[in-house]
Amino acid sequence: MTPVTPDISSSPLHAAIELLRNARRIVVFSGAGLSRASGIPTYRDADGLWKNRNALQFSHAEDLQRDPSGFTKFWAQRLSLIESAQPNPGHTALALLQRLRPATRLVTQNVDGLLTQAGGLDVLELHGSLRRWRCDRCGNRSGPWPFHRCLRCGSHARPDVVMFGEMLNEGVLLDAQVAAQECDLFMVVGSTTIVYPAAELPQTALAHGARLITLNLEPLPHLDEAATVVLRGASEDLLPQLLAGLPGLRG
Ligand SMILES: [Zn+2]
Repeated sequence: MTPVTPDISSSPLHAAIELLRNARRIVVFSGAGLSRASGIPTYRDADGLWKNRNALQFSHAEDLQRDPSGFTKFWAQRLSLIESAQPNPGHTALALLQRLRPATRLVTQNVDGLLTQAGGLDVLELHGSLRRWRCDRCGNRSGPWPFHRCLRCGSHARPDVVMFGEMLNEGVLLDAQVAAQECDLFMVVGSTTIVYPAAELPQTALAHGARLITLNLEPLPHLDEAATVVLRGASEDLLPQLLAGLPGLRG
């Protein structure tokens, strides 16, 4: 009997590497799972952001008028958590992918700025960034924030993130939609809950003929079944493995 040799090329990881090798334009859409290993709590973890009573009290823009000092204190704490966090190997791998393939667009739901800190370029931050603040009345963006009043009109500062009930930034969303239309490979990383309108991005890519890779700890209903390759695991483990399989890393 001939011994059966395992076909390495059929493993999901190798299939994903093949897709990345052959892609010309890649879009990577990331969510909270990407930053989990950096100590940023996700919305759905047991210790997640939304289990916290304060988070529910201060997640609408109106909460700033209701309780300015509570609001500012809550978001300043979130900011200091993010400022003390470091990019993890998943962030670094995505920044490296963009260096190897300059046409790669990084789209994220995360407001922690860690992709940019890892070296990612022109990151499309769909939900804004907690690292930027602005005046809630006149839109002035020059601080000092967060505990100071606006130097122009004296009103309060708020983080430049999309809160509950607010629209996504139109320009950022449009750039992400164009990137999804033009890509030939769309990868969803660590995003369990994609809500409208961001949920349309993978669908747009698929409708334009792109292949889809999903990489997540848990199953992604609807998306996994449309994916060419499903990778199940932690992004900080799997993304560096994907990158290691691409040519051009040495030297
Ligand atoms: Zn102002």
